[in-house]
Amino acid sequence: MDEGLDVRRALVAGNWKMNGTRVSVGALMEGILRQAGDLRDIEIAVFPPFVYLGMVADLVRHTPVVLGGQDLSDHDSGAYTGEIGAGMLRDVGCRYVIVGHSERRQYHGESDELVARKFARALEHGLVPILCVGETLAEREAGETEAVAGRQLGAVLATSTAAAFQQAVIAYEPVWAIGTGRNATPEQAQAVHVFIRGQVGLRDPVAARAVRILYGGSVKGGNAAALLAQPDIDGGLVGGASLDAAEFLTICRAAATRIGAAQG
Ligand code: PEP
Repeated sequence: MDEGLDVRRALVAGNWKMNGTRVSVGALMEGILRQAGDLRDIEIAVFPPFVYLGMVADLVRHTPVVLGGQDLSDHDSGAYTGEIGAGMLRDVGCRYVIVGHSERRQYHGESDELVARKFARALEHGLVPILCVGETLAEREAGETEAVAGRQLGAVLATSTAAAFQQAVIAYEPVWAIGTGRNATPEQAQAVHVFIRGQVGLRDPVAARAVRILYGGSVKGGNAAALLAQPDIDGGLVGGASLDAAEFLTICRAAATRIGAAQG
């Protein structure tokens, strides 16, 4: 078993994507906050659409739940219409920011280099970037899973130091598993997580042991425990299931049980 498991606090991150209204956001947060206090051994983070960040920041104040942005600009501020800067995310109370989600790469043409700049910008402003990497189905079937994850990670390692991963999180999100209901098996995910940790470890073994690697892709209440039982899966990046408080909390409880198991 990975020796670092006991030092890596599990993180369950709910990526709400472009969903919600003031009413549904209020109801979802009420459901999550009702039980979040019992789950203090793990870290729970929510990623609302930008327009609801201020509202959710007020709701999570003095609670164990933390806040994150779904994306950020690679620029600091200025004439970049529609963009959101890292400083703004900090200003409204974000701790995390998702960088390089496959939907940004796929629908907004984000290159590995742009993702690397966003990652660096997040760190510069004291945000914890969650770097998403992962292969498409065609790439998996062509045996390119490690090459793709390695390339995406490599672009960030070329811009920021490997030590930066002591202040960052990586999410392995196979594109074929996102929103499809088809999750990677625990063994498939564990194998890629070991590869990713190894890539960081080649440059900085301390950062490799410390960095939390989340799995994302159709994580649900029913499959979370098996995925999170893997020694190199340190939490989940959850899309669809994070919009349902009961389902999301089931995933959080699975992460908390993993901690108990690791501590013996
Ligand atoms: C995601 O968007 O990061 C994700 C993992 O989505 P889902 O859980 O819906 O597959």
